[in-house]
Amino acid sequence: MISVSWIGDYTYCPLKLYLKQVMDEDRESHHLALGRMQHEIRRGFEEITKRNIWGLKEDMSFREIREALFLDVPSLVEDIFKEHYDAGLSPDLPPLNDPSTICENLIEDLQIESFIIAFKVNKILQWSEKPSLKIVDTLFPASLIEFSMKNHELNLKGKVDKIELLEGYYYPIEVKSGKPPVNGVWKSHAIQIAAYAILIEEKFKKEVPVGYVDYLQIGDRRTVIIDDPLREELFTVLSEMNSIIEDGYVPEIVQNPNKCRACDYSDFCEYCNE
Ligand code: SF4
Repeated sequence: MISVSWIGDYTYCPLKLYLKQVMDEDRESHHLALGRMQHEIRRGFEEITKRNIWGLKEDMSFREIREALFLDVPSLVEDIFKEHYDAGLSPDLPPLNDPSTICENLIEDLQIESFIIAFKVNKILQWSEKPSLKIVDTLFPASLIEFSMKNHELNLKGKVDKIELLEGYYYPIEVKSGKPPVNGVWKSHAIQIAAYAILIEEKFKKEVPVGYVDYLQIGDRRTVIIDDPLREELFTVLSEMNSIIEDGYVPEIVQNPNKCRACDYSDFCEYCNE
């Protein structure tokens, strides 16, 4: 079955998908290993933030709220980073050049997100009668975390980072650690959200009109409208991915030296042009 997570490889370069999934040349990069660690840190961050919200008082200043919400977050990041780093981050990779900077950057990213949450919390505290309960419900709606789904008809499977449930609707959320575009979301991220929407629709028999991408680096949630053109684009991509994966079709590509330079397969790929 095709995994939704492979859409990123396909949209980067169809040949990368071919090398990885057909030729079985799986190259783990630091980027992927860091991404996995960041997901774990983010789950811990949400849990700590929810816990810290319960300790807030109505008469707290914005600064006090900000400090209270961020309590224990730096040590969470340091502990998880140390755990992954001690385990070799990824055993097949060379050591990282500057681990302390990576750790500082992770803390800085969460500080931005915590600042935005503190701002919202400050507002809610001013009008809510049941502050803590209301804040947790508003900022952290009921959700399914890392939820796996399959659609045999489409030969598609995927594990979405989060599905938020609001008033009977299901919203797929993807968490991304890389740089966001200036506006909107990257095309590959939009197609992935559309793929999760299709899987959710099949699983829960509910239409999914909208999904979101959370860009950690800027603490911003961006909307993806799952309209007909995006759905058609997804089906075209899935059809081409099926040809590569199921039929072993070697895709034709337009060489892009910038992409090849940053590609994990540059030392192996005979089409590499850097
Ligand atoms: S090295 Fe270039 S051509 Fe080869 S898979 Fe990577 S991006 Fe594609």
